[in-house]
Amino acid sequence: MKNSVSFNVDHLKLNRGIYLSKIDTLGDVQTITLDIRLRTPYKEEIISNKALHTFEHCFATAVRDTSDSYQNAMISYFGPMGCQTGFYLVVNFKDYSQDEYFKFFEKLLKESLTYLREMKEVPAKNEKQCGYCYSLGEMADALAVADDIEKLVDEMTRNGGFHTYVYL
Ligand SMILES: [Zn+2]
Repeated sequence: MKNSVSFNVDHLKLNRGIYLSKIDTLGDVQTITLDIRLRTPYKEEIISNKALHTFEHCFATAVRDTSDSYQNAMISYFGPMGCQTGFYLVVNFKDYSQDEYFKFFEKLLKESLTYLREMKEVPAKNEKQCGYCYSLGEMADALAVADDIEKLVDEMTRNGGFHTYVYL
């Protein structure tokens, strides 16, 4: 796998889905970048900035709180793609084998979405904790994105694996 893998993906043949974008290895730690692609590029409308930003706040909190009880895995980053078609989730793993990643993410995504649905308010919605809190929406904005992601997770489960890229 090349390092700048996402530029090697043919975005005209990329459908909505959950893709294992990248595996980086440093010593005994493997860092996985997951491509949670909610919109099919150039065929579907992009996600609004309000929805992206609100979901980012909620899910970043949900996924970290959820993964606290998981062994040998640490969330490094969750955030939106600049092209507004999805999100990246970056996780560090120790002592995992490649065939364990699918089950891990299936469980993590499901549990984090359940956690998010129980949240009462958008976390860190204030000037002290966010760079521009006026572009944040309400829980309803995050819940709509959560429903979209849940469909992709279910699809992934039915397929028994991550969605697969078509490379350039
Ligand atoms: Zn923010």
